Amino acid sequence: MNARELKTLQEIVDRSRRIVFFGGAGVSTASGIPDFRSAEGRFSEEEDGLSPEMILSRSFFYLQPERFFNYYRKHFLYPEAKPNAAHRKLFELEQADKLRGIVTQNVDGLHKTAGNIRVYELHGSVHENYCMDCNASYPMETILHSEGIPRCKDCGGVIKPNVTLYGEPLGKYVCIGAIREITNADTLIVAGTSLTVEPAASFISHFRGKHLVILNRDPIPAEEQAELVIRGDVAEIMDRIRG
Ligand SMILES: [Zn+2]
Repeated sequence: MNARELKTLQEIVDRSRRIVFFGGAGVSTASGIPDFRSAEGRFSEEEDGLSPEMILSRSFFYLQPERFFNYYRKHFLYPEAKPNAAHRKLFELEQADKLRGIVTQNVDGLHKTAGNIRVYELHGSVHENYCMDCNASYPMETILHSEGIPRCKDCGGVIKPNVTLYGEPLGKYVCIGAIREITNADTLIVAGTSLTVEPAASFISHFRGKHLVILNRDPIPAEEQAELVIRGDVAEIMDRIRG
């Protein structure tokens, strides 16, 4: 991140009226939520060598629900996490009518906590949990404070987090909404994601606007298509934008 790059980003933001922000794990690391796909975010050793992808799969959830929930409670729920500078700036930009929407791969719900309205949570949210039998809804705290397999207080059914597991399709309506926003955007800011997880990664192919910006700590393949690439911490970069 240097002064020239920040000046270019500011000029793009100043000129844009329909910004869409497409974010991944790197947006939440400054809130203390590790990226479980990154090298330092991998914490599978204690799970008999099972990868996070295996444990967080649909088949593992049904075959070994107790182990799934033990892992999920320990590594996916961060009740102390607060929105960081990136979340706060995006709220300002939405209030200023410059930001059309946020499409996120994160399940932490921090964009909604920050106050944003048009948030498309592609992989769901840890704050939404449903009884698989009667569909009663439960907050994150119910899962957090349960032991073993969380059960519905009304019917005894298993409570399942509304978080997309490996092997499960993305929600249809959230995908339609996200693609519509990206298609209509004049600027797309892709931040804190390597864009390697499908089908979310293919979403940016719907972008028809002028300015594609990539903010990420590490190089990513899509950089060739971008007008501006800034390497660094997403929260630090976003904090420098004037709304
Ligand atoms: Zn129930």
